[in-house]
Amino acid sequence: MGLSAIKGRIAAAEAAAGRAPGSVQLIAVSKVQPAERVEAVLAEGHRLFGENYVQEAAGKWPAWRARFPGAVVHMIGPLQTNKAKLAVELFEAIHTLDRPSLAVKLANLAQARGASPDLFIQVNTGAEPQKAGILPEALDSFVKEVRGMDLPVVGLMCIPPESLDPAPHFAMLAEMAARNGLAGLSMGMSSDFEAAIAAGASHVRVGSAIFGARDYSAR
Ligand SMILES: *Cc1c(COP(=O)(O)O)cnc(C)c1O
Repeated sequence: MGLSAIKGRIAAAEAAAGRAPGSVQLIAVSKVQPAERVEAVLAEGHRLFGENYVQEAAGKWPAWRARFPGAVVHMIGPLQTNKAKLAVELFEAIHTLDRPSLAVKLANLAQARGASPDLFIQVNTGAEPQKAGILPEALDSFVKEVRGMDLPVVGLMCIPPESLDPAPHFAMLAEMAARNGLAGLSMGMSSDFEAAIAAGASHVRVGSAIFGARDYSAR
């Protein structure tokens, strides 16, 4: 579809939901995309991107940051503890804080560096066994625990179960964020970002609808 079409759909969804223009941030998910597609979107002036793999991002973004000042990159994929150090050096935000051991690691790194990326806690709203994330019933105590470590928790993130209506999951995440005093809501992808905006998303993560399909075999 391309960047401007997606921006137009976001603006329409904001208006339909009675939300202020520009209240939703578009994270262009550039994982696995060929360099020329990402560079085209950077050249159009877009500056907020999402990546899933620390190693891949480390190979691409230092050069792009130098060429395109103001670029901001958020980590939206599962984060292994042994990649956490590289991740906090690379990303302005991490959307996938999903377990106590990772929080401890990030807190140690934050203390050593005197800085931390903004953190979103990933919630497994569908309680799917194969999916990462804090279970809904454990969320409130996890938020307290992470705040107690002096980490900058700014919001919640979810990936709803694939074949179900995402709207109840978005609503659940919004309710959990409100009850914990969190303004950030990272939810909605290419197939469902308008429903996420209706439910209050602050950040939508859109990849293939901007860049085209990903070709994992070409990596
Ligand atoms: C890949 C990915 C996206 C983007 O998915 P599209 O369907 O291409 O928009 C969004 N969020 C997460 C967590 C992802 O891994």
